[in-house]
Amino acid sequence: MKILVVNCGSSSIKYQVRDMTDESLLAVGLLDRVGIPGTTLKHEPVGKDEVLIKKDLPNHTEGMKLVLEALVNPEYGCIESMDDIGAVGHRVVHGGEHFAESTVIDERVKEVIRECFDIAPLHNPPNLMGIEACQELMPNVPHVAVFDTAFHQTMPPESYMYALPYEVYDKYRVRRYGFHGTSHFYVSHRAADMLGKPYEECKIITLHLGNGASMAAIKDGKVVDTSMGFTPLEGLVMGTRSGDIDPAIVFFLMEKMGMNAQEANNFFNKKSGMLGLSGVSNDLRDVLEAAASGNERAQIALKVYYNKVRGYIGNYIAKLNGCDCLVFTAGVGENGIDIRENICKDLDYLGIKIDSEKNNVRGKEVDVATEDSKVRIFVIPTNEELVIACDTYDLTKSS
Ligand code: AMP
Repeated sequence: MKILVVNCGSSSIKYQVRDMTDESLLAVGLLDRVGIPGTTLKHEPVGKDEVLIKKDLPNHTEGMKLVLEALVNPEYGCIESMDDIGAVGHRVVHGGEHFAESTVIDERVKEVIRECFDIAPLHNPPNLMGIEACQELMPNVPHVAVFDTAFHQTMPPESYMYALPYEVYDKYRVRRYGFHGTSHFYVSHRAADMLGKPYEECKIITLHLGNGASMAAIKDGKVVDTSMGFTPLEGLVMGTRSGDIDPAIVFFLMEKMGMNAQEANNFFNKKSGMLGLSGVSNDLRDVLEAAASGNERAQIALKVYYNKVRGYIGNYIAKLNGCDCLVFTAGVGENGIDIRENICKDLDYLGIKIDSEKNNVRGKEVDVATEDSKVRIFVIPTNEELVIACDTYDLTKSS
């Protein structure tokens, strides 16, 4: 069976096609600037040349049509006809408290995704738009939703409750949810394989360090805690997000800078983090370069970044009462050699010792800890799309 994986953003559609007989990748692609002038499709069929198609498209349904045409194109397609696609897996950011697992999409599931618009206004509406566009174009195959929040639903109340009046939880479902769950799930399972231990017996700390960044503490196959909260704004310092701050700063700056709620939301989500602190860029490569050439703000920004991650490592080791391995993943975690080094240095009291030579590696599945390090340090490239494809296949193969 072949599976189409779709990740729909407000103006983009990312996709993959996989043959689930051996999980092999047949094509990947990105349709960018949907609904904005300059729509571009970059389609990369495995074993053939990549193609770029420029064609302005007004909405996601028209966008999906162009993607499906590319998939069956006789020259650069990857399948013979749309009948080859047995099911479609959709990334959905927020499933609220309703979904601890992936699920086949029916009207009720769509209703829940809609109910979560309030708490995920940037993500769930385009996710649902993508689902409805695909359902319209492929009405005869099952569609599956894979939620970023699902894996974290095993968190206990002491990790997911905020110390706010209980009514705001009851009434508005204000609690910690956590995100990047599919990535934490994938890399923690790979880590258990690398440890050679049953997943249900491992203590794992996963560090998904990308433009958005989060960590998770996983014990006996369950998430004990994760750094993102009610929204992806909580936790680590990110490309443009502040991460943890004193909430009083929000009211203070709203008053001082005359910001309304939406402007404040934008300020802490889009203008803060490494970009705001360094004044250089949200991209850590640029910040590293600036720091190396003496830019003091960039140097401070990096120290704040490391300090926050190291604090969470200590926090999570305490909550797990030990740790078998740290797992670095996503753009920064997989490629940031200096960043891994700076995060892990001087943590030998916690049993964490990084080997600088082994650590001189990018984008490969490898153990970079010293022989005598009590805690293994893995670099594991994440593969959220593979998890979506596998879940979709498992839920639909007998239908
Ligand atoms: P992601 O969100 O997982 O796609 O990660 C994207 C981020 O990875 C970029 O914004 C960069 O900050 C970061 N990144 C990519 N390559 C490197 C590298 N060689 N060193 C440090 N950071 C990197």
